[in-house]
Amino acid sequence: MMNRNDNTPGTVFLVGAGPGDPGLITLRGVECLKSADVILCDYLANQSLLDYAKTDAEIIILGRHGSGRSYSQDEIVEIMLDRAYQGLAVVRLKGGDPSIFGRGAEEAEELRAEGIPYEIVPGITAGLAVAAYAEIPLTHRDESSAVALITGRERHDREVSTIDYSTLATFPGTLVFYMGVSTAEEWATALIEGGKSLDTPVGIVRWVSCREQESHRCTLETVVEYIEAHGIEPPAVFVIGNVVDRGPELSWFVKEQGIDPLTQNTP
Ligand code: SAH
Repeated sequence: MMNRNDNTPGTVFLVGAGPGDPGLITLRGVECLKSADVILCDYLANQSLLDYAKTDAEIIILGRHGSGRSYSQDEIVEIMLDRAYQGLAVVRLKGGDPSIFGRGAEEAEELRAEGIPYEIVPGITAGLAVAAYAEIPLTHRDESSAVALITGRERHDREVSTIDYSTLATFPGTLVFYMGVSTAEEWATALIEGGKSLDTPVGIVRWVSCREQESHRCTLETVVEYIEAHGIEPPAVFVIGNVVDRGPELSWFVKEQGIDPLTQNTP
């Protein structure tokens, strides 16, 4: 059972850190970080944002991909509830937007069930940040009037995909896949079977808005091969549609950094 005592519970703030560039968090997000007693920081959130923390704040880095300790979702919720019951202000800092493929709603549900006050602070989600930072216009008056955000990986206990690829194949707009690196074969094949053209342009953007940002272009037919040949690893978003061909080869952001996007070397 939880460590409940007589304190009024603290508030939990589910804060979107934005896609990577530390300048892309909201002012409200920064206010929350400055006043937090405890910060649970997602592995995808830029860790330099922790510089806003009070010097005596408890900081827990939720690791993944070999860095930091990895915590199960149950453990994370348990820590969040435990600290809130101690009357502490808790920030759960998440990459992008907390509610877009970030379990924000599930965590809010747990907090509601326990009667703990919470606030949700939106963030710029990675899939939408590609429009600015990789200059792939997600909407375009001549090409696309709608955008779909799709997860390439559903919950691991779900054996049969509930994603309706045949409907997505005919979706009149841009498709943006999150968590799609390891499942590219599945979604690309399903979209092609659903009737999407083999030569549909695909943009792959890794580390959107971070110093390491890389953009790649291929097609629906070649995407699986491309991932293998170029050793593409997460985090990456996939943008599928003609808008991919509308942007410049190098985005303003990549040029501004003066980094060769292929070798990643600063000249
Ligand atoms: N809540 C997050 C998404 C979490 S799911 C958001 O709103 O952005 C994790 C997936 O998000 C990754 O597998 C990747 O597809 C995408 N992602 C998150 N940050 C990214 C970044 N900086 N660059 C590219 N993809 C990113």
